[in-house]
Amino acid sequence: MAFVAFLLVSAIGIQKAVAQQSVAAATLTAVPEAEGDFDFSVQEPVAPHPDIARLGTIPDWSVLDRYQKSITREEFTYLLNHCYARRESDYNGMIEIQFDRARIRKQSNFSAGGYYDLFFKPGAFAPPSENRYWRSAVEHEALPKNNNRPLEGIRIAVDPGHIGGIWHTWDDRNFKIGKDTIAVQEGRMTLKVAEILARDLSALGATVYLTRHELEPVTDLRVEDLREEARSYLIRKRKVPSSGMISQTAKVMFAISSEIRTRADLVNESMRPDLALCLHFNAAPWRGRIALNAPNHLHLLINGCYSDGEIKEDDTRLEMLLRLLQRVYYEEVGLADTLAKTMQRETGLPHMGYGGNSGKAVIDNKYVWARNLLANRMFMCPVIFFEPYCMNNKEVFARVQAGEYEGLREFGGKYKKNIYQEYADGVTAGLVRYFRQRR
Ligand SMILES: [Zn+2]
Repeated sequence: MAFVAFLLVSAIGIQKAVAQQSVAAATLTAVPEAEGDFDFSVQEPVAPHPDIARLGTIPDWSVLDRYQKSITREEFTYLLNHCYARRESDYNGMIEIQFDRARIRKQSNFSAGGYYDLFFKPGAFAPPSENRYWRSAVEHEALPKNNNRPLEGIRIAVDPGHIGGIWHTWDDRNFKIGKDTIAVQEGRMTLKVAEILARDLSALGATVYLTRHELEPVTDLRVEDLREEARSYLIRKRKVPSSGMISQTAKVMFAISSEIRTRADLVNESMRPDLALCLHFNAAPWRGRIALNAPNHLHLLINGCYSDGEIKEDDTRLEMLLRLLQRVYYEEVGLADTLAKTMQRETGLPHMGYGGNSGKAVIDNKYVWARNLLANRMFMCPVIFFEPYCMNNKEVFARVQAGEYEGLREFGGKYKKNIYQEYADGVTAGLVRYFRQRR
């Protein structure tokens, strides 16, 4: 099927006028200089600085224009309630579903800022293939029988989570036990899996892009560059900008916000893949001294489960709606369901569940959860997040120490591949199965 490439994400627009510019103006307005200076004439309300995510940008709602009348009221409501909003009450006041349109508040903290009207499509479902750069599995050319390159023509972005190397102290995904051991460093381990996947998926016909090739950040910004932005952000979020809080926020802005947003620009503007795989290793929380007593388990994530606070961020609300309107959900859920089964088969790991509000179960597969993370919101294509193996589990630690050996070795009475190859094989088997079933 012919595919019309659209420059969607450059249109996501969201001008790169970063938040801080208008903060000073917003906080300095309407303070009378002295008694007697009051002006009793009717004044236009002054807009406060919008509520936006860390390093986010003020949204341009006109990017939704191309999605006018592209979704029915029923489908819009279903996707919003079933996957995207954590609960229906979480979008109260922000998205109002009327008979013929969704009324979307443009600025959450300023009602006079008005609404964007997204009109529903009367009648039946129509696929939205022209309003996105990625193609679903069924939109790819059919495969000849017994084809040994089932991923031919599929563009896949592989995102090795975290940074690793000397940067591990910024993302806190690192520990070492004893003198003569290999440090357990998530950013290094995810890169090993990514390199194996690049080789194996290419051999099956895919075009593979890595968002990072080294143990180095992709962003040019560093913690020191972000201190002022961190201070402005804390003030906007009504938090006390103590030096400890500023340092902590600047660190998160470097290792997560700026790093992932830079990778998202690469994904959306140059790679423009059909799907993205975000590779991680899990860990049970630890403080100070590490103990290897964590249970071992596996889960996969798709995008969804936005809280009220997240939906109130103007940029986040727009990004959520773009995912909904591109029908990313159907592709993500199909991929995650298949990949969870092959990962489970390959690793033998039990599932992990989310208590409380942090994750949402959207399909009948205990390994698959919806969560709103920066990468699975910003990469504007189907994104699967992998969270296998707890790094502070005793057997996982031993397997990391064993490195990338050939063949099988015994752990806990079972012969196993090296942990990186096993991880990659679970992913590859799932992609092959998914695309074979649909092409
Ligand atoms: Zn991680």
